[in-house]
Amino acid sequence: MKFLRYGLIGQEQPGLLAPDGTLRTLTGLVPDIDGPGMASGALLRAGQRWQDLPVVEGSPRLGPPVARVGKLLGVGLNYADHAEESGMAIPDRPILFFKATTCIGGPDDDIRMPSGSEALDWEVELGIVIGRQASNVSVAQAREHIFGYLIVNDVSERDWQLKHSASQWTKGKSHDSFGPLGPWLVSRDELPDPGALEMRLSVNGEVMQKGNTRTMIFNVDQIVADVSTYMRLEPGDVIATGTPPGVGMGMKPPRYLSRGDIMELTIEGLGAQRQQVV
Ligand code: ZN
Repeated sequence: MKFLRYGLIGQEQPGLLAPDGTLRTLTGLVPDIDGPGMASGALLRAGQRWQDLPVVEGSPRLGPPVARVGKLLGVGLNYADHAEESGMAIPDRPILFFKATTCIGGPDDDIRMPSGSEALDWEVELGIVIGRQASNVSVAQAREHIFGYLIVNDVSERDWQLKHSASQWTKGKSHDSFGPLGPWLVSRDELPDPGALEMRLSVNGEVMQKGNTRTMIFNVDQIVADVSTYMRLEPGDVIATGTPPGVGMGMKPPRYLSRGDIMELTIEGLGAQRQQVV
């Protein structure tokens, strides 16, 4: 099932993209697309009745498909070829960082270039959405704790990430608008193999990143298991699982975003995002 949230910023309503291609509302059936609805099974139950749900006409703005994300985490350098282009060693264990949840936006919302920014960069990533509390889970159990997947653009300001932050990256990952999620939250049953998804990001129509989740160093189960040893994961938490090569920082010379640039991102089965830098 493809869950989504539609409407103006801060007034999003729960809905889904139905198998017949229509947008249907879940208003009145569930309070929102959120962690409690994932954990209780209420979302999946409501979605099964999609034929009874009213169609939403037009093309409303889509918001982030998960409300009230408790934790937004990122895994660094999870593709060997991206570690290489970044000039960094391949890690033995997942590198973990936080993105402030206030950076979360809709899949097509503008990316706001921070004032003084000179190194704004893109990162197309497969995002995991937790559906069941996870503490110290094994790799074999991990999948049961995943509700579904979505696209994340892990927008990054490289000077803030690397020059202002020394050994942590949060400063460069957290500005308002640096976390577009969606368009949909795709439930786990629709993507039985998250380890074989084509992914792509273009800037102004030029393909910059082209990869496949098959070249991830740590797969989704290993990531959930690893993170759950350090902290309790809650339903509605989101983990961005790292980016394939082709980021602006890795180009020679580096190539960063300017105002007016358009980013377009796709991951197989998860839809597409499109953002303008303003
Ligand atoms: Zn990233």
